Amino acid sequence: MSVTNRELESRRIAAVPSGVACAFPIFADRALNAELWDVDGRRYIDFVGGMGALAVGHSHPGIVAAVRDQLNRFTHTFFGTAPYEGYVALAERLNALAPMAPAKTLLVTTGAEAVENAVKIARYHTGRRGIVVFSGSFHGRTLLTLGMTAQVNPYKVGFGPFPGEIYRVPFPYAYRGISTQDALSALHALFETELNASEVAAIVIEPVQGEGGFLPASSEFLKALRQICDTHGIVLVADEVQSGFGRTGRLFAIENFDVQPDLIAAAKSLAGGLPLGAVIGRAEIMDSVHRGGLGGTYAGNPLACAAALAVLDVLENEGLLARAEEIGARLQAGFERLRIRSNHAEIGEIRRLGAMIGIELVTDSVSREPATDVTTRIIQEAAQNGLLLASAGRFHNVIRFLVPLTTSNELLDEAISILGRSMENVSKLQAQHGRRSTRRVSQ
Ligand code: PMP
Repeated sequence: MSVTNRELESRRIAAVPSGVACAFPIFADRALNAELWDVDGRRYIDFVGGMGALAVGHSHPGIVAAVRDQLNRFTHTFFGTAPYEGYVALAERLNALAPMAPAKTLLVTTGAEAVENAVKIARYHTGRRGIVVFSGSFHGRTLLTLGMTAQVNPYKVGFGPFPGEIYRVPFPYAYRGISTQDALSALHALFETELNASEVAAIVIEPVQGEGGFLPASSEFLKALRQICDTHGIVLVADEVQSGFGRTGRLFAIENFDVQPDLIAAAKSLAGGLPLGAVIGRAEIMDSVHRGGLGGTYAGNPLACAAALAVLDVLENEGLLARAEEIGARLQAGFERLRIRSNHAEIGEIRRLGAMIGIELVTDSVSREPATDVTTRIIQEAAQNGLLLASAGRFHNVIRFLVPLTTSNELLDEAISILGRSMENVSKLQAQHGRRSTRRVSQ
């Protein structure tokens, strides 16, 4: 008999450190497109999508074939010793697709590494140290990117000290009373009182905050940042690790706002589930670093490059950028119907840019108090009912949907109805039993 979820869960607890949180006691057996089957044979709609790494779904045949071809040729050489065409071809394609021109691309392995390298390049280029980031931001789990990340729990607690020269200002969050103007005033105040703008290397911003609660920046805000960067010679870095590669209806989310960043940090969906990160940026800035200053053993791994080239083909051939908007609109309409029906925890706000859609849950629409526990319970209940979802948000009270753009309308509708049922069940249980213990996981 094959291994069960229950057996694997006890082996996991014994063998894997408890700091690695797993949201559900299930173990993947196989997965295809937006569906996943666990080792007990249960089927789930997977709208966590490898935590946003699967814009083209699980095991897309085009990606599998490209990786298999590469696997038969070689798996790894180290680009610094025996470079290969896949890295160069991917850089060429990303340069051509980038919102800035002429562009060059550095390949690395993860999102955090992409952000770190963007900071290194910006510092080298400007000869300055200061980094400006935003409240609610998430930039990774390495020590520099943790320093740049806003959320203390669970990411930062106990891991300091963090690197210096990182300054944080508010991110616009209309639903919680922070306007674009408030955020800009805080930035101006920072420059007047704490930090000379001429000492800032980079402003690093997620055009749509991911872990921060699927919060799009306003066009006005991003345009103002562009102007501030131009005035003071600061490098504008878009962290598109979560928002990039089609999810918002454009290849990069920042393109929705008609703003050109200097550098883009990308990863996740870039290589359809294989580990790959990239810094794509203005050639003049990218080329400023000395020879040998950039790289990494696995940076731009050949299998991941083959996968990424196939991802770009799939996005194009299957019209997935346009599909992102349809997916977002269909989910939004479904969630609006749930909002009318829901009674206990309330849907405070439904936010989206393309298919990057999140639901912020509050205890009541007047106080807007975050319904954190209820969010966790709904996610657990949805998993019991066959739908995998993840939370986000500074208060962990946002349900986010990282839907593969290859998902059918039937699956979207099924997911909406599972979510509705799960919300109702949680409301009923709340009414019957009051509070009970919860289990939460974060990216
Ligand atoms: N930046 C953003 C915006 C992210 O969402 C993430 C991952 N959630 C990262 C950086 C870090 O990426 P990785 O986990 O691949 O290091």
